[in-house]
Amino acid sequence: MTADRRRVRQAAARRALEIEELDALLVTHLPNVRYLTGFTGTSALLLLTRDRTFFISDFRYETQAAQEVGDSASVEIDRASVWDRLARVIAAAAVPIVGVEAQSLTLRDAERLAAMPRLRVQSTNGIVERLRVIKDPDEVDAIRRAAELAAGALAQVLPTVRAGETELAVAARLEAALRERGSEWHPFQTIVASGPRSALPHARTSTRTIERGDWLLLDFGAQVDGYCADLTRTVVVGARADARQRAVYETVRAAQQRALAGMRAEMSGRDADALARDLIAARGFGDAFGHSLGHGLGLEVHEAPRLAATATDPLPAHAVVTVEPGVYRPGWGGVRLEDDVYLSPDGPVCLSDNQTDLIELMRE
Ligand code: ZN
Ligand code: ZN
Repeated sequence: MTADRRRVRQAAARRALEIEELDALLVTHLPNVRYLTGFTGTSALLLLTRDRTFFISDFRYETQAAQEVGDSASVEIDRASVWDRLARVIAAAAVPIVGVEAQSLTLRDAERLAAMPRLRVQSTNGIVERLRVIKDPDEVDAIRRAAELAAGALAQVLPTVRAGETELAVAARLEAALRERGSEWHPFQTIVASGPRSALPHARTSTRTIERGDWLLLDFGAQVDGYCADLTRTVVVGARADARQRAVYETVRAAQQRALAGMRAEMSGRDADALARDLIAARGFGDAFGHSLGHGLGLEVHEAPRLAATATDPLPAHAVVTVEPGVYRPGWGGVRLEDDVYLSPDGPVCLSDNQTDLIELMRE
């Protein structure tokens, strides 16, 4: 990432400060710190004033902070206490009203700020997150590479899956393949859910043994340059799909295709959600799609915007979102298909492969 990009982002955050009539913003949410400075470590306080940026970390990150943050901020390393250092920086900068990120600041740290003299703390919500919704071309490219990596890992592992092994065994091979192909980390706990367990939208991968004819739902991610991909595929193991499996699968697939073809930037998150939801309901499965259609994707695997019945705001151009309809029948199983989409001003661009022909794994 170029220093210029970080400066542009910091400048945009400063404009938000002015609008909210704050003298400074204390950034404590680490993905936001990364977005504004490039820092990838786990200990950082970033104070953005109207004209300066202070980055405070501890001695473990002395070398890394110099390399990653560079001259995008004034780097202060404190060997004793980053919060004491912050108090001194705030006093020296003379910023009477400091905004804090309400979603990430702990009560303990709020108490530390409250103890600082002549300081008024004001709660803020999503100042940096709103900037992060609009992806620049490098960010879109990183998500695309993560999605390609994830699809490659799945293509490597799927032909080796067979009835008689456990969900965890499949997850282990998939996670190994993701790492071997260059995923920095698993952005969330890999879901491998078989048979009736595929009806749990957020199943934990378990020791259950996969049986012939089972659904196998795999929801997994990859991370490249900090950016996440999030994919779900559902396949049948060791048998041909039966009629009911086919009907459910084709419903989910048609719902996803309808959303992928019809969604647009500036459409509301609710209208995008309805593209899939209405089709599923029309085929009689309305009560079986209990979650929202998708979520934003970036440095975090769940970020703004949302594609949901309650999301009335327009989807911004240059956002990246998932499209993941599902149909779940408790005791029987479920199907979900998930792809990652860039909302370009000219229309949606699928960043993942959208290879959703029904796969029946017939290997003995
Ligand atoms: Zn997912
Ligand atoms: Zn997702």
